[in-house]
Amino acid sequence: MSRHFFTEARAGLVHILRERGIIDEAVLQAFGVVPREHFVSGPFKQRAYEDIALPIDKHQTISQPFTVARMTELLEVKPNHTILEIGTGSGYQAAILAEMGASVYTIERHFELYTASRSILKELFPATAIQCRFGDGTIGWSEYAPYDGIVVTAGAPEIPDALLKQLKIGGHLIIPVGNEKSQIMHCIVREDESNYADYPLEDVSFVPLIGKQGWSGS
Ligand code: SAM
Repeated sequence: MSRHFFTEARAGLVHILRERGIIDEAVLQAFGVVPREHFVSGPFKQRAYEDIALPIDKHQTISQPFTVARMTELLEVKPNHTILEIGTGSGYQAAILAEMGASVYTIERHFELYTASRSILKELFPATAIQCRFGDGTIGWSEYAPYDGIVVTAGAPEIPDALLKQLKIGGHLIIPVGNEKSQIMHCIVREDESNYADYPLEDVSFVPLIGKQGWSGS
């Protein structure tokens, strides 16, 4: 596949996202720049700009581009925002956030995915602040809290308390909540020290969030 093929395909994906209702120009701009083909391997590279989830290692997925765009739009990311992502996976969502100028903190529970995504993110963003951590993201990352936004890219049985506590006042927590197969996307806005507004949105289907404040599993 030539570089030209990927450049054209990337522009095509931006067109699809726009048609599907993504209106935040900063989000669309980032999708027009970040090379999704770098986050998948082998035969999946040529399908990188189809609006579909694709398999990555450890039986996980790189989310569908529309879903990544939708969650990013709901975060209302501004340059210099500090964003925590739970579920680094391939690293693509983290790359979109970094491309938008956010300082990104991202946690992955599979060591192989943590090392692979960390190395690709370092290669693509040598001068940008993306901090990767190996571990259980359901307990958040308290050292750098509070965050302007938190995005959970795996399906949770309930909203982890730790993540609510690590959100700034005015910040958005975007999280799929439901059972292990299907969930509802929630946008939670911290209104003040102890009040949160919870907006349940569309149906989604994510791999399970496994951890202390998630599902049990291996
Ligand atoms: N954001 C990713 C991307 O752009 O490729 C997609 C992530 S994939 C749908 C969900 C990821 O969440 C998987 O890599 C999975 O291992 C990870 N995960 C599940 N539970 C987790 C937890 N408690 N802490 C950190 N990562 C977790």
